Amino acid sequence: MDTVDCIVIGAGVVGLAIARRIAMSGRETLILERENAFGTATSSRNSEVIHAGIYYPQGSLKARLCVSGKQQLYDYCERYGVEHRRCGKLIVASHAAQQPELARIDAAARRNGVDDLQMLDRAQALQLEPALQCSAALLSPSTGIIDSHGYMLSLLGQAEAHGAMLAYRSPVTRLIPQQDGIAIVAGDDPEPQLRARCVINAAGIEAPDLARRVEGIAQDALPRAYYAKGSYFTLSGRAPFSRLIYPVPEPGGLGVHLTLDHGGQARFGPDVQWVERPDYQVDASRADRFYDVIRAYWPGLKDGSLAPGYAGIRPKISGPGEAAADFRIDGPEVHRIPGLINLFGIESPGLTASLAIADEVGGIAEGLFN
Ligand SMILES: Cc1cc2nc3c(=O)[nH]c(=O)nc-3n(C[C@H](O)[C@H](O)[C@H](O)COP(=O)(O)OP(=O)(O)OC[C@H]3O[C@@H](n4cnc5c(N)ncnc54)[C@H](O)[C@@H]3O)c2cc1C
Repeated sequence: MDTVDCIVIGAGVVGLAIARRIAMSGRETLILERENAFGTATSSRNSEVIHAGIYYPQGSLKARLCVSGKQQLYDYCERYGVEHRRCGKLIVASHAAQQPELARIDAAARRNGVDDLQMLDRAQALQLEPALQCSAALLSPSTGIIDSHGYMLSLLGQAEAHGAMLAYRSPVTRLIPQQDGIAIVAGDDPEPQLRARCVINAAGIEAPDLARRVEGIAQDALPRAYYAKGSYFTLSGRAPFSRLIYPVPEPGGLGVHLTLDHGGQARFGPDVQWVERPDYQVDASRADRFYDVIRAYWPGLKDGSLAPGYAGIRPKISGPGEAAADFRIDGPEVHRIPGLINLFGIESPGLTASLAIADEVGGIAEGLFN
């Protein structure tokens, strides 16, 4: 059986960032991906926003890794020529009753070390974005957008330049802990073909299910997976905004917001729909609610101008009505399987935080090699 230092399961943005980090530290690294391309799951079904780190509870992994990851990501994009734009965003109170919520968001951001938000009154907000309807807004200057595909391509290129290999069509079905590592069963072969001293489960929405297929793992140390689908609608014609526009957050997500791509094309989403099983169909009838929500901050939205776009699934580990769970990066001290690191609940801001998550996981992995 072939043995490598490290196997990363999943070639989404997080798996690729981790593989790059570990390969750059001189470890022989193999990425196993179920599909025939990288980044086809959540990593290509999101808002492509570089988040500032505003909303997350103080001291949480989400807060810490988003704030440090944001800076790392901007530096990375500059250095390696990944398309991005620090366009800023406005969080909008559409009526006076929502204004205290803006103050709460501002205070939460400051606790996370994000101290560049500016509270704008209606006139100041309209000066920036004349098509907006609002009673006040918070400006986040450090929020931006990124070409996530270009970013993943760059991560993979660097991982490969440091000797990492990516094997497509390699669904991992079973992990068997052994004395000197973890044996991996992948593809159609029922027997393990590979072994690694360190295995990183970065399988996104599948990560809890995959962890259950680790022989001997304590099942009660594993979270339950919940799926919160988010659908997007694209705007025909150009949007009259140059910044991202967010309403105040809603339970389960950040609210149906406007994001822009690098060509200035606008899309709205994601909404929140708890589903039993992941599916990526966009139900065109959900547009009705989008019109209502968007017109609260952009009354100029014309009938018939929204077309179904795409959908993503938030890899949740807390259910409807529960407080949003933090990211979980579980090493052997949690699940007692030597050599294994499980990543659970890497929902938003996982793209923004990807390089910081990779450093965190890389640090744990170093301890496992020694
Ligand atoms: C609607 C939505 C909007 C979002 N917006 C933003 C945003 O604007 N900004 C931001 O920072 N974050 C955002 N996020 C979060 C971000 O997209 C995710 O945190 C990030 O993409 C997670 O990457 P990942 O690599 O962990 O997972 P994934 O991209 O899901 O990758 C997991 C990979 O594992 C593979 N896999 C699964 N099972 C197996 C197996 N058994 N064997 C081999 N391979 C397997 C899958 O095929 C997949 O390629 C958003 C998420 C959603 C759902």
